[in-house]
Amino acid sequence: MIPVLTIDGPSGAGKGTIARLMAERLGWHLLDSGALYRLTALAGIDRSLSLDDAQAMAACARALDVDFKIINHAVVIELDGTDVTSRVRSEEAGMGASKVAALPSVRDALFERQRAFQQAPGLVADGRDMGTTIFPEATVKIFLTASAEARAERRAKQLLELGENVSLPRLLEDIKARDERDSARSASPLKPADDAITLDSTALSIEEVLAIVAKAVAD
Ligand code: C5P
Repeated sequence: MIPVLTIDGPSGAGKGTIARLMAERLGWHLLDSGALYRLTALAGIDRSLSLDDAQAMAACARALDVDFKIINHAVVIELDGTDVTSRVRSEEAGMGASKVAALPSVRDALFERQRAFQQAPGLVADGRDMGTTIFPEATVKIFLTASAEARAERRAKQLLELGENVSLPRLLEDIKARDERDSARSASPLKPADDAITLDSTALSIEEVLAIVAKAVAD
């Protein structure tokens, strides 16, 4: 069986960074499942759809015309042929993603697309339900958390680097609202898989988290 390492957890816990570095280190493929929800939201916004229209948004998710390219060692994401790499990381896309992700029809529409990423020699999958719903058979499952304050600060740094204006109190509020929506929804709520290793990264450096995850994969 093709091995899968799943890294789930709330927004801003460092999943994306750890998943990317582990994929590079292992030479495995990478699935950023949050990007698929963000792209679905952006496609809906671009078509002036209502993000809570379950049928329209599921159709949007099924027909998603996306391309993930590696250019100069960086991932470039195209939606309908347009480079949306920075837009995908915006707060607009994040909040929209959290809305469409609450729709079971959208989650179903993205199921097979996500499963198709499981290719040799292995896959690192980053998201909310990778270990519980999409790859329940995964070899190693990590649930990465951090305090809401630490996550808001990390997100502020990321947005500043993208040149966006940030207000820390506002970001903290958004993170808490998103946590609440992701945990309270009935479709794949955010929770660790029974066989996941839970890691609190609040007081850990990236290198420390990487060392723990790498050891779990090697064991
Ligand atoms: O991880 P990221 O911040 O990119 O995810 C954006 C939103 O997409 C999350 O708030 C969550 O609602 C949703 N999501 C999800 N399941 C996943 C990945 C992301 O519901 N596997």
